[in-house]
Amino acid sequence: MAQISCRVEECRYWENDVCTANSIQVRSSGTRKVSTSDDTACETFISK
Ligand code: SF4
Repeated sequence: MAQISCRVEECRYWENDVCTANSIQVRSSGTRKVSTSDDTACETFISK
């Protein structure tokens, strides 16, 4: 998988600003129509 830069240091897959998961899934974060990156969320996130 391409290297994914991530700033969510609370995630179990996070390591030095890089995601170490084999793959990730991203979804819309709510019921609103997605129009900016703020409206998306990483569904693969697992809390440390
Ligand atoms: S799984 Fe998602 S939140 Fe966690 S490090 Fe990877 S990209 Fe970031």
